Amino acid sequence: MTETVIRQVRVGDGREPVTITIRHGRIAEIGADRGAHGQVVDGAGGLVVPALVDPHIHLDAVLTEGFPAPNRSGTLLEGIERWSQRKPYLTEDDICRRAEEVIRWHMAHGVLNIRSHVDICDPHLTALRALLKVREAIQAVVTLQLVAFPQDGIYCFPDGPELLEEAIRLGADVVGGIPHYEWTREDGLRELELAFGLARKYGRPLDIHCDETDDDQSRFLETVANLTRQNGLGGRVTASHATALASYNDPYAFKLIRMVKAAGVHIVANPLDNIVLQGRFDTYRKRRGMTRVKELLAEGVTVAAGHDSVMDPWYPLGSGNQWFVASMLAHIGQLTGSDELPAAWQAVTTAGARVMQLRDYGVAEGMRADLAIYDVPGPADLIRLMPLPRWVLAAGQVVAHTPPANSTVWWHGVPQTVSFFRS
Ligand SMILES: [Zn+2]
Repeated sequence: MTETVIRQVRVGDGREPVTITIRHGRIAEIGADRGAHGQVVDGAGGLVVPALVDPHIHLDAVLTEGFPAPNRSGTLLEGIERWSQRKPYLTEDDICRRAEEVIRWHMAHGVLNIRSHVDICDPHLTALRALLKVREAIQAVVTLQLVAFPQDGIYCFPDGPELLEEAIRLGADVVGGIPHYEWTREDGLRELELAFGLARKYGRPLDIHCDETDDDQSRFLETVANLTRQNGLGGRVTASHATALASYNDPYAFKLIRMVKAAGVHIVANPLDNIVLQGRFDTYRKRRGMTRVKELLAEGVTVAAGHDSVMDPWYPLGSGNQWFVASMLAHIGQLTGSDELPAAWQAVTTAGARVMQLRDYGVAEGMRADLAIYDVPGPADLIRLMPLPRWVLAAGQVVAHTPPANSTVWWHGVPQTVSFFRS
C-alpha cells in the first residue's frame, strides 16, 4: 500500500484540523482532503507530532534490575558493580529479548528513533552482536543507532582500545567513551584522543559519556569541545550527561558553555538517572546533578534528553515514555517559564533528531511520515499528562495504537467524564 490518509489532525499551533496525505512513506500533502486510495486513519482532532526521539538509552541493560543481585544503595557505583556481576550471564538471546521488549514500549509511546549505548567491555562483544541483529530486524520501523560504549573504561580494561575499534568494525554507528572513569586524568585524555582518532578513521560521529559525576575537577567536556573544533566535527559530537558542569564555578561554566556552543557539541541530559544518581555524596544541600540545561539553551546549544535506563541496575523505574523524561527535564531544569517550556518537548523531538543527525524529520511535506497523534489540545499537555499516543505511524504505516481512556467520577453522585483539560 503506497498511500495513507490521516484525517482530522492538528499540526503545530493550528487549531483547525487538516488532512495529511502520505505517499511512499513520506508526507505528500498537508491540508486539503482529496479522497482516500488506501489506508485511512481517523485522527479525531488530535495533535500530530513527529515520532519521538530517545537519544540515550542502554538497551543491553534494560530489564536486568534485581538479577543476580539488586542495587541496594541505588548509587551509580553500585549500579556499575551489579552490571559487572550480570555480564557473565548475558547471552545474545537474553539481550535481544529484553531490548525488543523495551523497543515495543518505546513504540507504544511514539518513540521511533533510538540511540543505544552498548557496553563493549566484553571480549566476546556479546551485547553488540545481539543489538546489531535487533537493529537490522527493526530497521523498517525504528531507527536504532548503536554507540560503542566502554562502560568499564578503555585504558583500565584489558584490551580496551582493541575492543573499541573491533566494535566499530563490526558495525557500531557511533564512537563512545567514558573519560572520567579512567584511573587518571591523563588516561581520560588519552581515551578521548583515541576515540576522536577512531571517529576520523572510520568516519563516525561521537557520543561520549562525559563528566557523569559531581566532581568539579572532572573537566573532560573542555577537551571534547576542543577536539571537536580541531577535527572540524561540529554537529557530529555529543556529550552525554555532563553533570559535573552543574558543579563547576560560574566563571568556568560561562567560558565552557561558550566553547561547547562554538565547537558545535550537542548535549544530552538524562534527567531520570541524573536526579537519582547524582548528589549521593551530599548531605544537605543536595545537588540536583543534572547539567546546566537552562544556561546551555540560552547560549543556543542543542540540548536533548534521554531515558538512559529502563529497570536496570542504575534506575529501577521507567517505561520508555519520553514525555516523562521531558517532564522531568522541565522540573529539574526549571523550564517552566512560558518561553522555556517548548525546550522540554523539543528535547525529545527536534533536538534529539539533531543529536542523531536524522534527515527528513518533522511534520512537513517531503518529510518521512514517522508520526505520533495525541488526544491533547497543545504540546504543553504532552509534558503535563505524559500520554500514550492514539496512533503511531512509521513511514505512513500504523505501528501502534492505544484506544483513548476516559475517567468517570461520581460528582455528588452524578457520573461525569474527566478529561484533564481546562474547559
Ligand atoms: Zn548512559
